[in-house]
Amino acid sequence: MNNKILLHMCCAPCSCYPVKKLRAEGIEPIGYFFNPNIHPYQEWQRRLKTAKEFAEKISMEIVTIENYQLREFLNRTQNYIEGVDAEETIKFADGHHSRCRICYSWRLMETAKFAKGNNFEAFTSTLFYSKHQNHQLMKVTAEKIAEAIGIKFYYEDFRDGWQEGIDISLELGLYRQNYCGCIFSEEERFSKEIHKSRKKYFKSLK
Ligand code: SF4
Repeated sequence: MNNKILLHMCCAPCSCYPVKKLRAEGIEPIGYFFNPNIHPYQEWQRRLKTAKEFAEKISMEIVTIENYQLREFLNRTQNYIEGVDAEETIKFADGHHSRCRICYSWRLMETAKFAKGNNFEAFTSTLFYSKHQNHQLMKVTAEKIAEAIGIKFYYEDFRDGWQEGIDISLELGLYRQNYCGCIFSEEERFSKEIHKSRKKYFKSLK
């Protein structure tokens, strides 16, 4: 592996450990911020600003896609929700994963295309650091995209450095958000009703 690797950054705090780990392996990543999933607009602006601040603080090159695509994100995810997975979504069984599948593939696809078009050897994502994402689904998605686009997917499970990443982000004084990104995840994070409903559903599975 040469060191020309494009690192999709879901946000600055989740980038702390992966960048440290890659650099320790002799890989100098270039950050790529493409996250149309972040809502509302001011939150997206804040995370974008923090990603740039992080890159500057650690002297990492970064590419930012600043075309905010709220409507396109909602179109894509709502069409899916209203389609094959409608029933599961209502039950909160698989709705999260259906929506996230679209979200992962859009962001990883754009990253892979940019990497291919700009002569990177491989791409990866800070999403593989998060304990809150569907890791296996993202891995399979990234592998399929890599094959389709004709570029390597650099896989590493960064979750081992969960606490270290949090510590670095605090040391750097980075803004740390408290929900994943989309407007649905904000509701899921703060709605007591949804929490109750999820709990009830998962209890019923036992
Ligand atoms: S919960 Fe997170 S990963 Fe899932 S769709 Fe929303 S922003 Fe994307």
